[in-house]
Amino acid sequence: MDVLVIGAGAAGSMAAIKASEFTDKVLVLEKAVLRSCGNLAMGHHSGELNPMTNMPGGPTSEQFVEGYLSSSSGLSGIERPLDKYIIAEEFPAIVRDLEKWGLEIYKNPDGSYANYWEKFIGERMESGVEIKGGSMKKCLIAELGRRNIMVVERTTAVDLLTHLNVVAGVVGLNVRTGELTAYHAKSVIMCTGSSSRTYIVSPGRRWFWMRDVGTNSGDGRGMCYRAGVEMTMMELIRTDHMIGNTMGRYWGGKMVNWKGEDFLKETYAKKWGRLWSMHLKTMEENAPLYWDATGLSDEKMKKRNAYASYEKHKPDIYLPESYQQRGLDPRRDKVEAIPTPIGFLGGADFGYNGSTSMKGLYAAGDEIWMDSLSGAFVFARRAGEAAAKYARQAMIQPIDSKQLMTIEETTFAPSKLPNGIQPQELEEKIRGVLTRYGNVVKSEGMLKHGLRLIKELRDRVIPQLSAKNPHDLMRSVEVRNIMDVAEMHMAAALFRTETIPYGRHFHHRIDYPNQQPGWYRQRVVIRHENGEMMLSRRQTTEQRVPTREEYLAVKEVKP
Ligand SMILES: Cc1cc2nc3c(=O)[nH]c(=O)nc-3n(C[C@H](O)[C@H](O)[C@H](O)COP(=O)(O)OP(=O)(O)OC[C@H]3O[C@@H](n4cnc5c(N)ncnc54)[C@H](O)[C@@H]3O)c2cc1C
Repeated sequence: MDVLVIGAGAAGSMAAIKASEFTDKVLVLEKAVLRSCGNLAMGHHSGELNPMTNMPGGPTSEQFVEGYLSSSSGLSGIERPLDKYIIAEEFPAIVRDLEKWGLEIYKNPDGSYANYWEKFIGERMESGVEIKGGSMKKCLIAELGRRNIMVVERTTAVDLLTHLNVVAGVVGLNVRTGELTAYHAKSVIMCTGSSSRTYIVSPGRRWFWMRDVGTNSGDGRGMCYRAGVEMTMMELIRTDHMIGNTMGRYWGGKMVNWKGEDFLKETYAKKWGRLWSMHLKTMEENAPLYWDATGLSDEKMKKRNAYASYEKHKPDIYLPESYQQRGLDPRRDKVEAIPTPIGFLGGADFGYNGSTSMKGLYAAGDEIWMDSLSGAFVFARRAGEAAAKYARQAMIQPIDSKQLMTIEETTFAPSKLPNGIQPQELEEKIRGVLTRYGNVVKSEGMLKHGLRLIKELRDRVIPQLSAKNPHDLMRSVEVRNIMDVAEMHMAAALFRTETIPYGRHFHHRIDYPNQQPGWYRQRVVIRHENGEMMLSRRQTTEQRVPTREEYLAVKEVKP
């Protein structure tokens, strides 16, 4: 293969589609099935697409980045503002392509985009168009089909094949047959999404809740780390909040503390993000928070339900019915809203073309940057082009038979131990460690203890893992990744001796409660070297709106 894409979600599909413009040797491996894989297919119907910049009703690229940096997002001090500028410049063209492929967008009566623009909503600037979210995944699948791009389903990538820090392919496990296959490729694009299975699911009225799709066990992050790829921003935790049995976003109504006080008014005035404010409130009072919609008019409630369903005009998920099933009546009761960790912002350190520190290896989407659909699409398109151009000029690397054998032995070891420990039990344990010792509020003592426990689980339990069938084998592969991600997160969080306040992702050290000038523009870089985790700092770019010239210098996508 010229280009091997891992994961067929938003990023993987877009990367493969773009790569196919340069080569017909593109293959996608997907752990689940194309029809129902990734965030887009599991209920995130994304009723809107943003940012829609440089068009009537929307901001310019400069205004968009300015809005981003001046909201709570800009507080982190470790952003790379040119990433946002690139998104602002390139996303609207992608939306037009998606429309050509079948995406349904709500328009003005004259056929123009009905663009909206809200300058400040706490965490970032919003500007975009409303879509029929259900048509998003379908249009990507249709385009993959039109281009004859092959997707190998039910195949989970296990580990990267490498030769002298150059990628040579990937080993994949068929999750139904348990068969292991080596996929030889000139370039690989890692698009395995977020690391959503890292914390214990919060208790509450819902039976089972994870914000992101459950197949995402941080596999790409684990594979990259083990292969020695430089990882960054792993200390930044991403949270969201859950209301009743639906994902957060309480638009309409108020967020109140247990005494019924609308605390967000004050924090919004200070330009803190909604989630950071909720997090601080929970800490301060050690008490539940609630969504209070008791005073909402019927009309507003209808609008809110449609909005939160991500399908503004025709909700696929009928919220009132789902509330009813859980015995909730938001018109009568205040409904608990739980801020919960959902994953991490960071992953492989990436260039403006999606390249990583390993030659031939690219990454895109939530894999590197748990941020947005626009970020996933824009950088996946760049990675697809760069990887295909790279493959055109690169030699295919030899497969190292010793490496292949080690991967095979590690993958199948649990099936040789029928009476050992189930991978599911180990996963529960690791998620328990992270929930207690590496949760949103951190300290040196907790992190050091958590890291000791992870080491102990690695040394004692991994050799005892047991798999009775291919599904268990897959879970054993996943649990190793969950463990690597947990360790990276806690180690990076221990290394970064400051607090980064931010709405959507942040790093809170109770023993270092303020931002430290010494950490300004410093990212934590992690690298796995000779079996050891190495941590260092790297300075990121200036925290200001980039110039047009700076964008033009990276506009052309190079291998
Ligand atoms: C509830 C919700 C609301 C959101 N709201 C917004 C919003 O309002 N605006 C916005 O911009 N963004 C939003 N997002 C984020 C956006 O949906 C994601 O950024 C985007 O879908 C990420 O795409 P991805 O391809 O990187 O990951 P995913 O869509 O998660 O795809 C990853 C794919 O990789 C596969 N995979 C995983 N591991 C392996 C492996 N080892 N081998 C092979 N395949 C593997 C998975 O099965 C999956 O298909 C939201 C997300 C959620 C969940």
